[in-house]
Amino acid sequence: MNMIRARQLVYDYEKRDEEGNYAGVTRAIDQVDLDVKPGQFVAVLGHNGSGKSTLAKHMNAILVPTGGTIWVAGRDTRDSEEIFPVRRTAGMVFQNPDNQIIGTVVEEDVGFGPENLGVPTDEIWTRVEESLKTVGMLEYRSHSPNKLSGGQKQRVAIAGVIAMEPQCIVLDEPTAMLDPNGRKEVIRTLHELRKKKQVTVILITHYMEEVIDADRIFVMDSGRVVMQGTPKEIFSRVDELKHYRLDVPQVTMLAEELRKRGLDLPKGILHREELVDAICQLK
Ligand code: ADP
Ligand code: MG
Repeated sequence: MNMIRARQLVYDYEKRDEEGNYAGVTRAIDQVDLDVKPGQFVAVLGHNGSGKSTLAKHMNAILVPTGGTIWVAGRDTRDSEEIFPVRRTAGMVFQNPDNQIIGTVVEEDVGFGPENLGVPTDEIWTRVEESLKTVGMLEYRSHSPNKLSGGQKQRVAIAGVIAMEPQCIVLDEPTAMLDPNGRKEVIRTLHELRKKKQVTVILITHYMEEVIDADRIFVMDSGRVVMQGTPKEIFSRVDELKHYRLDVPQVTMLAEELRKRGLDLPKGILHREELVDAICQLK
């Protein structure tokens, strides 16, 4: 069974004029088919307004489809009885960590989620400890979240979600407000999380450097999935990416420029070492 499966998914936002009268719709998701397998690390790319957040909100039943269907671990999100199980299956992390942290002490914050789920007290503490360990924040357990860096706060927010033991975690531009170090911390944490707990990770971002180690990339434009494939496949299609107003990782760009100048390098180079090796093998 797929963790996420969407077929002909459509979502329309209603437009209103100044008087609040109905003024048509904006189609934010347009006939999307999408499959994410359990344990996959998937990235969703797309410029502003391409429909990424709207798609993410469907994975957690915050929004339900206008047309088509999305199943989360086999559950149809339009079925009102499935909303609660869907939300337990897919945890969400948003852009701004300050809006997600509510506790005054790190461990208390991480414990809120499981507490709300009615998890017994001793198990809450086990989960809090385990989750903080996974994100590398255990030593901060009795700190105040206010004093943490952006990257640390976002890791605490991630710990809060994994303490609820979701099968899937959906992150909507979790690194957008972080400095480069914070961004690296968060991405590293997500890969650890996937490795240690086999959690399915769906990462929405517009930083290309963050997606090169994903299993699969989906590119969105005007509410549609316009490209999908492995990072190597996606970043071999530099001209298409530019057409969708997306960048490519710096290393890929450099390799592409060198190729255009006649160096016989393979397409879709993603890592610096790969480029160095490829250059060293040139005759
Ligand atoms: P992204 O996350 O890729 O920037 P969104 O999913 O936020 O894209 O937006 C997709 C489209 O839906 C855009 O045209 C946006 O203006 C529109 N949209 C998003 N949220 C709302 C909303 N609450 N009401 C009306 N239109 C919206
Ligand atoms: Mg968005």
